[in-house]
Amino acid sequence: MTPLGRLIATRIAAEGPISLADYMADCLMHPVHGYYATRDPFGSQGDFTTAPEISQMFGELLGLCLAQAWMDQVRPLPFRLVELGPGRGTLMADMLRALGSVPGLHGQIEVALVEASPKLRAVQKERLQGHKVQWLDRLDDLADGPLFLVANEFFDALPIRQFVRADAGWSERMVGLKDGLLTLGLGPATPYGSLAARLADTRPGDLVELCPALAPISEEIARRIATNGGAALVIDYGGWHSLGDTLQALKDHRPTDPFAAPGEADLTAHVDFEALSLAFTRPGARPSRMVSQGLFLERLGIGARAERLAAQLQGAALDSHLAAYRRLTDTSEMGELFKVIACHPAGAPPPPGLDPI
Ligand code: SAH
Repeated sequence: MTPLGRLIATRIAAEGPISLADYMADCLMHPVHGYYATRDPFGSQGDFTTAPEISQMFGELLGLCLAQAWMDQVRPLPFRLVELGPGRGTLMADMLRALGSVPGLHGQIEVALVEASPKLRAVQKERLQGHKVQWLDRLDDLADGPLFLVANEFFDALPIRQFVRADAGWSERMVGLKDGLLTLGLGPATPYGSLAARLADTRPGDLVELCPALAPISEEIARRIATNGGAALVIDYGGWHSLGDTLQALKDHRPTDPFAAPGEADLTAHVDFEALSLAFTRPGARPSRMVSQGLFLERLGIGARAERLAAQLQGAALDSHLAAYRRLTDTSEMGELFKVIACHPAGAPPPPGLDPI
């Protein structure tokens, strides 16, 4: 067992089984042994690759998308650009490069990064040298004002709880110990008010997931956009309405058992876009419709951008550029699995590429 696995086992032996959310939180963010707290997991050397690490086009198009949302409003200055979970800082660096060419924005951009990992904060600092950047532990710590926000593969890293439908109630899946090894078990059946609505569309034995941190964060985004303007883009894998077990562990780009090596594999779960849409619906703020990443990027003009970049490349560089374009947009790659949703003020259109409700 890993050092973190031993710590978790000791805790369970003393206090009893823990929720999957507590387990995920320890695995990802334990200050000494947590996955994000201790490493830079991205790229071919790491455990997974994200869209901004695949191609600069992703960040450029997202930056210009938010710039258009800014132009559709009263062009509030400074332009407050916020990213949740910025990883290596690549998406922010690409957005800032593209935004540098937007008239009226030069020298007017203030960046705030919400990042829990000290290790990744250091990588971001290096990457974003020369820019005005502030780091925050939580979005709540940000001063009020118009908010232009992006979150790519942030919500999938937030801990989830899982519940199995009993007859009229739900049994939570808990992490316990069996023969000294971490193992999943079921808690007692309980009514759980927050799952009452799911009794209508599930049957005994079905599994549903809840992400307790999703609503507070996304409601705070909507509150700020409703009060002060701005726009938010959330990109992640998942779909509409959670049903089924989507907990996934990745190590060295391969799926692995989520309980085999706590702290050494990335743990994620699909994001429930219905829950995001609900949280973005409030007086003064609206969600957009959910759209696939492939369609969103095509609507923003990734085809034309890819052609322009291709004209400057040859040989292996051209091949890998074209492969990156396919990877981001093709329905058999990230194009369909990943989805996009926006939050926008009720009085302004959604950012380009997204349809209003
Ligand atoms: N957006 C980046 C990285 C995605 S990985 C990209 O697309 O490449 C998830 C990121 O969210 C990491 O930077 C991780 O450290 C951060 N993170 C995860 N949980 C967090 C939390 N609760 N608060 C702040 N940051 C968090």
